[in-house]
Amino acid sequence: MNLILDQNSWHTDAEFTYAAEETVRVGDLAEVPFGKGNRLKRALVTETGVLPSEEIDPSKIKEIASVDPQVRLNEEMVRTMQWMRQRYGIKYYDALHCFIPPGKPAKPGKSKRPYARTKGEVQEVKALTDEQASAVGRIEDSMNQEKGEIFLLHGVTSSGKTEVYMRVIQHALDMGKTAILLVPEIALTEQIVRRLLGRFDREEIAVLHSKLTRRERFDEWMRLRNGEAHIAVGARIGVFAPLENIGVIILDEEHESTYKSDQTPKYETVDVAVKRLMYSRGVLLLGSATPSVVSYERAREGIYTLIELKKRYNRTPLPLVEMVDMRKELRSGNTGIFSRRLLSSMKGALASEKQVILFQNRRGYSTFISCRDCGEALRCPDCGISLVYHKHEHAAVCHYCGRKFPLPEKCPSCGSRRIKYFGVGTEQVEEFAAREFPDARIERLDLDTAKNRTEINRIIRSFSKGETKILIGTQLIAKGLDFRNVGLVGVISADVSLNIPDYRSTERTFQLVTQVAGRAGRGSEQGLVIVQSYTPDNFALQAAASHDYQSFFKQEIVIRKFMEYPPFTDLIIAAFTSENEQTAMETAERCKNYLERAGLPNSDKILMPKLSMNFKGKDSFRYHIMVKAPRGSRNKYIYYLRYFNRGLLKQKTDCAMLIDVNAYSSY
Ligand code: ADP
Ligand code: ZN
Ligand code: ZN
Repeated sequence: MNLILDQNSWHTDAEFTYAAEETVRVGDLAEVPFGKGNRLKRALVTETGVLPSEEIDPSKIKEIASVDPQVRLNEEMVRTMQWMRQRYGIKYYDALHCFIPPGKPAKPGKSKRPYARTKGEVQEVKALTDEQASAVGRIEDSMNQEKGEIFLLHGVTSSGKTEVYMRVIQHALDMGKTAILLVPEIALTEQIVRRLLGRFDREEIAVLHSKLTRRERFDEWMRLRNGEAHIAVGARIGVFAPLENIGVIILDEEHESTYKSDQTPKYETVDVAVKRLMYSRGVLLLGSATPSVVSYERAREGIYTLIELKKRYNRTPLPLVEMVDMRKELRSGNTGIFSRRLLSSMKGALASEKQVILFQNRRGYSTFISCRDCGEALRCPDCGISLVYHKHEHAAVCHYCGRKFPLPEKCPSCGSRRIKYFGVGTEQVEEFAAREFPDARIERLDLDTAKNRTEINRIIRSFSKGETKILIGTQLIAKGLDFRNVGLVGVISADVSLNIPDYRSTERTFQLVTQVAGRAGRGSEQGLVIVQSYTPDNFALQAAASHDYQSFFKQEIVIRKFMEYPPFTDLIIAAFTSENEQTAMETAERCKNYLERAGLPNSDKILMPKLSMNFKGKDSFRYHIMVKAPRGSRNKYIYYLRYFNRGLLKQKTDCAMLIDVNAYSSY
């Protein structure tokens, strides 16, 4: 039989042949003697009944020492693991640890349950709406026929997507199958657990995410593995839930960047879900009010089946969105951060006892600090990122590594004293709001004020109860929160996310504005949203203002095609890290030449290696190259890159290589 070692090293990243007295199964965990000293190591059985290759001397084949009687995986998990290794260019070890949490089974009576005190939230549902019924019908049909279909459920906020999820999960259980439901953020787990508890037996549900304690996570894993619980809920690691016969995997808010892992292994949740479902021929259900451009294009091409929920359940009209041209405000002499229109609407809302949300996707006071004379911006010496002025702390803060620096009196480059602060952060919005509305209670929710869960809950609760009149925040307030009495939402500067140099910035802006706008008018009255911008004609802002996903998509997809961006290509990054800058750069360049010689599609268009600005390793340097791999060539590229990496290992260079595909953060 063959097995892989539970060992974090490229040198042992291979299958090894062993013999066993007893019968073992694929997915068993074993202890095996390894190497010259025959030290015992944990291993996973990947193949049984195979004849050893002729190159191996039969007398050298060792025997396994023991098999773990309590914990084992199944064949599907092992195959998915092997596939992940190829697809992402990672080690067996990295894939293995996605599937097995650290720890051991608990001693009797010592196991721990997370969310044990969370109460179920029962919502009365007498009948599904026509749209919901037809959506559920189509998905259930597909589950019955085991077609392994992928659905994209595009439903405006409050159209009742969660109700659809619960029906589909019920259907999976009725079929004797299991279900996985994922949310994009750990903070949203509790809310969804509450709704599931209102519908399903507590024993059926297990939660998986990375903020559980080790004990809790292992025990929840065991309950799924032993078939006690049939529904796994959680954040992206939930996709590895040890379930058999998976009937459905659901990704709520499928467009969120958190579904792409930003640590090794850098997997995409949707890929892993598709792979796993091939075995049980289950359904993948992707839900969103603002689907990602990639998913929507796949639906258009017929790879996914599109289902739409166009009406809000309670029929509240979508909010009215108005754009304000900030260039005109400037010309007419208003240099403040609130336009006259926003200010008068705030007065109006507060006068009629409505609450106000102000959204600005930057925390701090001023978002950058620069010299008037030489134009140099103040940067973090470790990260190379512009520092943000925090008035409260009286410091210049790096939002990447968190280091704080004293405010400079002189420009570090030219010595000039003319230092100026630009760009508006939430702290400044708060200051101006307080000046305009001294009698209104104002609170701010961003990473600076949200120090812990209790504080976040306090801020949210006081707003829900109507004590706070104006809530100011970053994207923390954009998601999922359901407030009843918000009459007005102001977007202070919609340009912030548009100006991020990333091919997804337009998509991101459309999603953010749509999401924030969705916070207005959730009661019975229509809400008002005012979006301030210096580029009010931008198509994504216009489309968000008219709640027109189609119009946004049609324009964005043309740009993606022209620029050769996803979904038409995969952006593959190969990054090289070394203590020696020269080594990192030269290795990157060698890799570039190597790919060019391989003659893969687009490999002639790779640019010179770049220093990675977002890399924060101490005393080391990272250089990367990027390839736009046309469809169908991704796997070939990964294959070549793995081969290149193997060469590096053989030469024992002090240069580490990593591969990332379609990363959300910039390198
Ligand atoms: P979404 O997930 O699309 O934002 P939800 O599923 O949370 O929407 O539904 C919004 C609200 O409408 C919830 O309070 C939910 O209980 C309610 N709701 C949805 N569908 C129905 C239904 N068929 N009957 C009664 N209430 C419903
Ligand atoms: Zn200067
Ligand atoms: Zn820094």
